[in-house]
This record gives sequence, C-alpha cells and structure tokens, in this order.
Amino acid sequence: MIYLDNASTTEPSENVKNAVLDAMKNFANPSSMHRLGINAENIIKKACENSAKIISVHPGNIYFTSGATESNNTAILGYCRQNKKKGTHIITTAIEHPSVLAPFKILENEGFSVTYLKTDTYGLIDLNDFENTLNDNTIFVSIMAVNNEIGSIMPIDKLKPIMKQKAPKAVLHVDAVQAYGKIPLKAKQWGIDMLSASGHKIHGIKGSGILYIADNINIIPLLNGGGQQKNIRSGTENVVGIAAFSQASEDISNYNRAYVGELRNYLKKGIEENIDRIKINESKEETQAEHILNISFLGLRSEILLHSLEMHDIYVSTGSACSTNKPMPSHVLTAIGCSHEETDSAIRFSFSENLTVKDMDTVIGALKKEVSNIRKYVRK
Ligand code: PMP
Repeated sequence: MIYLDNASTTEPSENVKNAVLDAMKNFANPSSMHRLGINAENIIKKACENSAKIISVHPGNIYFTSGATESNNTAILGYCRQNKKKGTHIITTAIEHPSVLAPFKILENEGFSVTYLKTDTYGLIDLNDFENTLNDNTIFVSIMAVNNEIGSIMPIDKLKPIMKQKAPKAVLHVDAVQAYGKIPLKAKQWGIDMLSASGHKIHGIKGSGILYIADNINIIPLLNGGGQQKNIRSGTENVVGIAAFSQASEDISNYNRAYVGELRNYLKKGIEENIDRIKINESKEETQAEHILNISFLGLRSEILLHSLEMHDIYVSTGSACSTNKPMPSHVLTAIGCSHEETDSAIRFSFSENLTVKDMDTVIGALKKEVSNIRKYVRK
C-alpha cells in the first residue's frame, strides 16, 4: 500500500498504539482522588508538556478536545460571543477549513460583520490588505498556519504586530492542524492567543485534539458540566486519546522536514517529466509545506483518477476538502484562481515520513499509465 492521503489522516504509529494500550489499562477517572486517578491525571499532565513544547507555550495553557473541529468552534464561537460588547467585526480568510468557516457563518447570522480575506494565486494573504481591514471594532482574527489543500504557509508571525497597531482589542486564533510539528510554531512569541491542533494528523488517533488558550483570554465554553479542564471543557477527559496525542507530539518533534521535502520534490519532478497538461497548485518555494502536493491533471476528472490509482493500492485525495465525501468544487482552489477544469482535475498527494523514494517511482509509473488511459477514454 502507498498511502498518500496524510493530510486527511495518518496511520497511528506503533508508539501511539502502545501508549493507547497503556492508557486503557490505566482506566481510572483523572478526577478521582485515589492513586489510580492520579496516575491517569499524570498522563494528562505529561501530554500538556509534550504538546506545549511543540508550540513553545506553558503547559498550563493546553486544553484537550475531541479534535480540531471542536477546538476551532470553541475558540471562534466561545471568544466572539463572550466578547461581543468589545466589538463586532471579525476576520478570517477565504481558504480556511470548514470547521472555521462554519462558525464564522453562524456568527455572521448572529450579527457580527465578517471579512473574508482573499488570497493570491500562492494561497497567501496580503499583509497590506490585512492591515487595511483591521479597525477599532475588530475583536477576533482567525488565520490558518498551513492550508490543508495546497500547503501554503501563512505569515502567522507577522500578524500580531500589525494587529497591535490597528486593532488593539483583537485577539488571534490559528488553526494549526496542518502545521503542528511540521513547521516551527512559536505561539507565545508570535502573540497567538488561541491555537488548534489535531492528533490524527500526526499519527495519533481520531477524536483527540488541543486548544491552546493564552492567559487572560475569556471564552464561553461549548461544553458545560463537571467543570473539568478549568471549566473550559467539561466532560471526563478522553485519557486514551490524550495519551495518543501526547505520544504523537513527542514523536513529531523529530519530524524530518527535509526528507518529506525530498519525497515531494521527487514526485513533483517525476510527474512534470512524464505527464503533460498538468498544473501544479502550490505556493512559493519558501512558503510551501513539504507534506502537500496538489496537481491538476487537465482533461480528466479527479475522482476517476483517484479510483484508478486505488487499483494500484495507491491512496490519494481529490483537491476538494477532506471533510466531505461529496464531490464539491474546492473553495480553496477556486480562491487561488484555478479554473473549473483545474479544480475538477486536482489531486492532492500528502506525504508522511513512512514513504520512500521507491514508492514515488511506483506512483509515477501508475500515474503515467492511468492518466493517459483516462484521457484517451475522455477524448472518445
Ligand atoms: N483544520 C484543518 C486545516 C484540517 O485539515 C482539519 C482536518 N481535515 C481540521 C481543521 C479538522 O480537524 P479534526 O478532524 O480533528 O476535527
């Protein structure tokens, strides 16, 4: 099997499977006062430390959630509803994940005014545009660190200084799902107030994520009840998922960016040299995440190519959002200026360190065969 769909989800590592098993044996409620409870609580403490290291923050500011969808919803709805007296203008980008765009839509319906920043053909926002949209009424900005469809890396470190000048009340939330462990993230130093990440994108398990919340940020919790996690997220903690997140965070701290970059370049070059009528949907070299390669194979529909690669035991994704299996035109590719044909024929290859150069050769061979077969058929 050649699994090239790692931006959708990743295979849990052996270390993570072992951590899960251990945590299941350690089954006590982390709120219980006895020794077993304290053992479970210690798993959570360690997890806070491991994830805090990845984003350079204090472990006490990490909260565990059911995944980045919950983290994004909590940050966006929780902060804006709590702070609407301070202002009602909020900002995001046109290429965010649906778990950001959907809560923004809800807030729009509740009376907030939303600016959706456009991006250029490299999937980047313009910092002058950003500066011009900020004002005294702006209270919240949410911008993703790495786009999940094309892998563009946003200038997250440049945002807060501009916000301090133009919108002193505004706080910054970052959806860092595709960035966590893969590019440097200095959340505290860069003035990030809230940050979301997800376990299953880094060889952890589904249903586990984090929300970092800086000191002095007040939100209305989404989940209310027993007051766990300092009342930010009630509910008995998912110790198994948290243990997986913890182990996955420890492991991703050794992520080999250069190696993943080599795999990406090798596959890209192989496709460029062997297949005509393609368009690579990517960022500039210095703002391109190594683990994502999005290519349109003009003259065919991406679903057909996806299924024919499946026959070779090669697994990829179409260019459309990973959150849905409905074939919808990708809002990201549309936003970066792709034509209908380019959007319709886009395939996303997303890498992990488990892949090899030999795998890339196999993929290039399969693509050569399948793309020309499908194109022949389409032309008839
Ligand atoms: N944001 C981004 C950028 C993503 O890629 C994803 C996962 N597709 C999410 C948020 C949602 O994460 P989760 O699956 O943990 O809810």
